[in-house]
Amino acid sequence: MTATGPAACVIGWPVDHSRSPLIHNYWLKRYGIVGEYRREAVPPQEFAAFVGSLAAHGYVGANVTLPHKEAALALSQPDDRARAVGAANALWLDGGVLRSTNTDVEGFLHNLDASAPHWDRGLNKAVVLGAGGAARAVIYGLLTRGVERLVLVNRTLSRAELLRRTFGARITVADWDELDATLADAALLVNTTTLGMQGQPALAAELGRLPRHAVVTDLVYAPVRTPLITAAQARALRTADGLGMLLHQAVRGFALWFGRTPEVTPELRALLEADLGSVTAKP
Ligand code: NAP
Repeated sequence: MTATGPAACVIGWPVDHSRSPLIHNYWLKRYGIVGEYRREAVPPQEFAAFVGSLAAHGYVGANVTLPHKEAALALSQPDDRARAVGAANALWLDGGVLRSTNTDVEGFLHNLDASAPHWDRGLNKAVVLGAGGAARAVIYGLLTRGVERLVLVNRTLSRAELLRRTFGARITVADWDELDATLADAALLVNTTTLGMQGQPALAAELGRLPRHAVVTDLVYAPVRTPLITAAQARALRTADGLGMLLHQAVRGFALWFGRTPEVTPELRALLEADLGSVTAKP
């Protein structure tokens, strides 16, 4: 708490790229809450000391971004989500106890709820591309929504195998060159790889193989309109983009630190789209 109200921050190394200040400061202004949200560039060797003295730094809590998410988990009391995902991205002080959660899970689910209502009805099969940190949050979220079968496709098969062992029998693993064959009866396709990000190659997938009712979602948000989202919309498939997930994952932290559950509004989305406007996909 500062003289100007509660303060929170995003801790990363580097942290300049983070859009979290734009989101949280928009909500502070919109709801007339006296408070602050800042960036804190903290190198790995100083992270433990920094979060150990969050209150002394004037903070009620923080977002945590690369490369600190695993350390944040180890240094706090995580909830079930953070523990299952193996990484924490939001911290808050509860009395003297430092607690943590992983807000990517609800960001992913609530973005789909908002963008493609009823996407999880009769969710017989989902195809998830990628097996990094974001994939763990996505898999955990899909299992909580009752997906019957989840096919995990990753360039490095051993990383996908590890997630299968972690998350259990509903997961099957496929080679990257089997990607197109997995799409035939999938109700949901999720890209959690970095393919399609600015500076990265586009994701090549034969979306024509998906059923017409399938939903396509991309976690990449820079650019906002990734080649995957553009291709899915061209086929009239329902989509949910990475910017929506980024906005929805921010809701819980704001509620924890500033005491009000904020809304993801078109105005906020437009603000972020304008900020990301110069980011374009590789042709
Ligand atoms: P990560 O742990 O580094 O994992 C990256 C994944 O991308 C791995 O599965 C990797 O495969 C795969 N990959 C990278 N280059 C590839 C290529 N050329 N061909 C095929 N696969 C490739 O990253 P992460 O933290 O999971 O993040 C992944 C993406 O999700 C990023 O774009 C991030 O910005 C985004 N994200 C968005 C949100 C949001 O709120 N919208 C939240 C979290 C993450 P290998 O295992 O074979 O290396």
